[in-house]
Amino acid sequence: MQYISTRGSAPVLTFEQAMLTGLARDGGLYVPESVPVMTEAEIAALAGLPYEEIAFRVMRPFIGETFTDAEFKALIAKAYAGFGHAARAPLKQLGPNHFLLELFHGPTLAFKDFAMQLIGQLFQAALGRSGQRVTIVGATSGDTGSAAIEAFRGLSNVDVFILYPHGRVSEVQRRQMTTPADANVHALAVDGDFDTCQGLLKDMFNDFAFRDRVGLAGVNSINWARVLAQVVYYFSAAVSLGAPHRAVDFTVPTGNFGDIFAGYIARQMGLPIGKLVIATNQNDILHRCLTTGVYQTESVLPSLSPSMDIQVSSNFERVLFDAYGRDGAAVAQLMNELKGDGAFTVSQGPLEMLRDTFASGRVSEEETSATIARTLKASAELLCPHSAVGVAVAEQNLGANPMVTLATAHPAKFPAAVEGATGIHPALPPRMADLFDRPERVTRMTGELQAIEALILERTGA
Ligand SMILES: *Cc1c(COP(=O)(O)O)cnc(C)c1O
Repeated sequence: MQYISTRGSAPVLTFEQAMLTGLARDGGLYVPESVPVMTEAEIAALAGLPYEEIAFRVMRPFIGETFTDAEFKALIAKAYAGFGHAARAPLKQLGPNHFLLELFHGPTLAFKDFAMQLIGQLFQAALGRSGQRVTIVGATSGDTGSAAIEAFRGLSNVDVFILYPHGRVSEVQRRQMTTPADANVHALAVDGDFDTCQGLLKDMFNDFAFRDRVGLAGVNSINWARVLAQVVYYFSAAVSLGAPHRAVDFTVPTGNFGDIFAGYIARQMGLPIGKLVIATNQNDILHRCLTTGVYQTESVLPSLSPSMDIQVSSNFERVLFDAYGRDGAAVAQLMNELKGDGAFTVSQGPLEMLRDTFASGRVSEEETSATIARTLKASAELLCPHSAVGVAVAEQNLGANPMVTLATAHPAKFPAAVEGATGIHPALPPRMADLFDRPERVTRMTGELQAIEALILERTGA
């Protein structure tokens, strides 16, 4: 299995290389050269298996020779051992044919743990055998950062630097990033929004001298290994609801397009997914793009669902690559237009492909709050605001297939939004109850690339 860049001119890599690299050297994102397909019988055989076994069978064809089967099984087992639920990704019923896929039972209470806990294990194993050191730099709108810190803290061959937008993450999110005491963890509060942080990260990757000197590795959702880990729960949920014998629909609260892109891969692998619905908050670039054909960035509006306050949706490039018939030059051209003009127009054929592949909807702040309140009343479920965006859009897309909405975070991660909508203050699980008593450690930075690179060089001694 080999990996190619969406911009067509970076080296072809193995799974291990693509995982350790993150962003391709031509600015593109790595995707598998071809997506392996599972037969109907192979999918049917997943029903009733433990999550870890489904994970092994779904991901195995993608990893090539990077790990033996026994090694890979052991790493998967370690990755999910710290989850607070035996099913890992349990399904709950919200309505007659509407289900909630709870992806928040990991150590930081958001779905990012599914990928990040696994990536932590995979990095450690790969670096352990090569003796290599890497510097992980991540940009976060809140949840990726804490998940990365939790996955890599204390590892001897890794430093983790997390850039988050100062003042724009919830207090729980911030404390999850600033309270780990491990010396290899560095939380940086940057003046700006998430797109500022993500832009800085991309600039660091494009500074090849710096990149090579510190051994820069990326674990943002641009990392293929993260997307791959997220493909698994589409399979576990769908087979629980009768796939492959019946099709299942999914609605996914979306920001950087990583989670929903995993659903797209699951469908390409042969999982019968009917509708695949993009749910956005008021930062609705993806919904606008599908509706009008124009991908136009605007300024980020802070919302009740901050992990989706994103205008440049990185993983969208991966599906554009397919929509343009895997023409890397065409994608590079669009990304240049985006960089220059802040916008590009999707041509007719690719736009039709996107509209055939995805449905979409946008949810206002009022609807988000109303959905939290309504769902509590109707189904006794307390939703986080991101999950509420998903549920609101899913309700407009219910049909004959079972609908699964991805619940991307625990309500206690966003207590202000939940309390504002319902009057109920959601409690943290007992294992995190002392979060507000732990001392914080954070470095405040301006959005200046040079200063951040200098700090990373100093702290890593590279
Ligand atoms: C990251 C995140 C999202 C958005 O996921 P993408 O993969 O970026 O689309 C939604 N909800 C929560 C809680 C998140 O942490």
